[in-house]
Amino acid sequence: MVLKSFIEVHPDSHFPIQNLPYGVFKRQPDSEPRPGVAIGDYVLDLSVVASAGLFDGPFLRNSHCFNQPNLNNFLELGRPAWKEARTTLQKLLSAAEPILRDNAILREKALVPTSEVQMLLPIAIGDYSDFFASKHHAYNCGVMFRGPDNAINPNWFHIPIAYHGRASSIVISGTDIIRPSGQGHPAGNSLPYFGPSRKLDFELEMATVVGPGNELGKPVDVNEAANHIFGLVLMNDWSARDIQAWEYVPLGPFLGKSFGTTLSPWIVTLDALEQFALDAPQQNPSPLPYLAEKKSKNYDIALQASIVPAGQKDAHVVTRSNLRHLYWTITQQLAHQTINGCNLRPGDLLGTGTISGPEPDSYGCLLELSWNGQKPLSLGGTTRTFLEDGDEVIFTGYCKVKFLGIFSFSLLCDFIPLPTIDCLTRLQGDGYNVGFGTCSGKILPSLP
Ligand code: MN
Repeated sequence: MVLKSFIEVHPDSHFPIQNLPYGVFKRQPDSEPRPGVAIGDYVLDLSVVASAGLFDGPFLRNSHCFNQPNLNNFLELGRPAWKEARTTLQKLLSAAEPILRDNAILREKALVPTSEVQMLLPIAIGDYSDFFASKHHAYNCGVMFRGPDNAINPNWFHIPIAYHGRASSIVISGTDIIRPSGQGHPAGNSLPYFGPSRKLDFELEMATVVGPGNELGKPVDVNEAANHIFGLVLMNDWSARDIQAWEYVPLGPFLGKSFGTTLSPWIVTLDALEQFALDAPQQNPSPLPYLAEKKSKNYDIALQASIVPAGQKDAHVVTRSNLRHLYWTITQQLAHQTINGCNLRPGDLLGTGTISGPEPDSYGCLLELSWNGQKPLSLGGTTRTFLEDGDEVIFTGYCKVKFLGIFSFSLLCDFIPLPTIDCLTRLQGDGYNVGFGTCSGKILPSLP
């Protein structure tokens, strides 16, 4: 049987008992922020669970990590503590377990409707890097700016390329983004202009939330890197393409990126994502030994970006992509970031870079979708090349359990060994999503 909670969870919900993503919420504007996990339409307050003595395993019994305004202390404890928390919470929320199910007073204290809470940034982010790990994205950008013959720089196939981003302007989903002003790329030989960005874009990304981290001078082995990754969030790396194009030579992105980066509120753990792991694309040429993984994994996470154009109500899907399209894996990114001895700390964030797929309807930003403004997109009676004031951009992402129907099950029964039958039995009939919720932001006009 599929594990079920005593809390009713709609089949389309992103937050069944198989997920249990971590966030930080406030009950009232003046209440203390506290960590929680999402279950259906509720948040389970982990500080209440901890106070009731229900985290009784060796790693969490005496810990105060859930009486904190962010998850950093919990992240620092590492995978054994994360696994202990997941086991405890899945048991506590399961249909068969009476401790919370049959205790109305505790339930009232511990479970809060999601509609009544305010979500906050779940982590204090010390440092943030952003990679460039999708080959399709790298190729498309290269074709636009250098032509098809030199589209991808030779280093790209050997190094997971990245730049250091700005942590101070990372905001939680729902925060408005003010259109940045800056120096724009001049046309031809004319002088650069200064003013509100004329090419404001989104970048469909995910980001790795770093767990324990490493000591300065001690790199993380690529085959150990997964133990340093707590989970993933959706990320919109808003980008002003005209500012970026003018400033990025020779040191890389700066003000074209640092005016705002939006995160989804729920961190989905690698443990919840494990059943959606698949082989990463073959890398050719082979990576250098410090990047060579015994098993190179991506995750099958369907991603989608929509735009609600200014003045309209409906969202229009502009792209559908998938994390599986990444060339460089998240574990290679983490190992590469530390190979020079640089230390990562709990709560650090590593963005994947724009996740573009191979097809034009799977490109991860407007720069690619509109081919630098040459091909406007139609959205419900209007068009866009880049974002306009009042536009809202909404990302979502989820993994779906693909269950097999009764028909294929009965056909296969005669031919497959018993353990496989057991697996099919558990998957058939009860599909569910392990999802990330949404990551949204609306563009406000630039400041006068
Ligand atoms: Mn980016």
